[in-house]
Amino acid sequence: MKPTAQRKAIYPGSFDPITNGHVDIIRRIENLFDELVVLVANSPNKHYMFTAQERAELIRESLGGDSKVIVDIHEGLTVEYAQSVGAPVVVRGLRAVADFEYEMAMANMNKHLNDEVETMIVFADPKYGYVSSRLIKSVSVYTNELEELVPRVVCQAIQKKISARG
Ligand code: ADP
Repeated sequence: MKPTAQRKAIYPGSFDPITNGHVDIIRRIENLFDELVVLVANSPNKHYMFTAQERAELIRESLGGDSKVIVDIHEGLTVEYAQSVGAPVVVRGLRAVADFEYEMAMANMNKHLNDEVETMIVFADPKYGYVSSRLIKSVSVYTNELEELVPRVVCQAIQKKISARG
């Protein structure tokens, strides 16, 4: 990888949708790097509640207009994206032991694909340790009282999707 003077990192994920757990990780790491890209992964084999564009827009709105964090969408390997923008660091969050095996396998696979890209793990704030996009979507069918767990715009967007489905 071409060395760059800037310290760049990627925080990849589905973000379907972004939760306060994700926002917390972004806030904690954004100032550790000169540039942080929150990368919305889009896989043709996955079924999402929100399109990649919607997920990216919800991230931008959740972070606020003055955030210097870059939000981008990518279909394909995270390490390829990282290489293309000269970012040697991929950040992932770890909530509990349940996340560990998957994150370790993913980090090792990424190392196999490109050993110039290092995965860094950041532990979730315990108050968001049980918050996942999947659980938020399931619970949202029955309640919209999730304001401590997801940004307000996300709460509204989920309710809109649910009522559109009828
Ligand atoms: P993926 O489908 O790639 O796992 P997610 O959007 O579910 O994408 O998660 C992206 C990253 O954020 C993962 O590293 C995941 O472990 C982490 N993450 C998910 N929820 C939380 C949370 N509540 N607190 C901290 N990190 C989280």
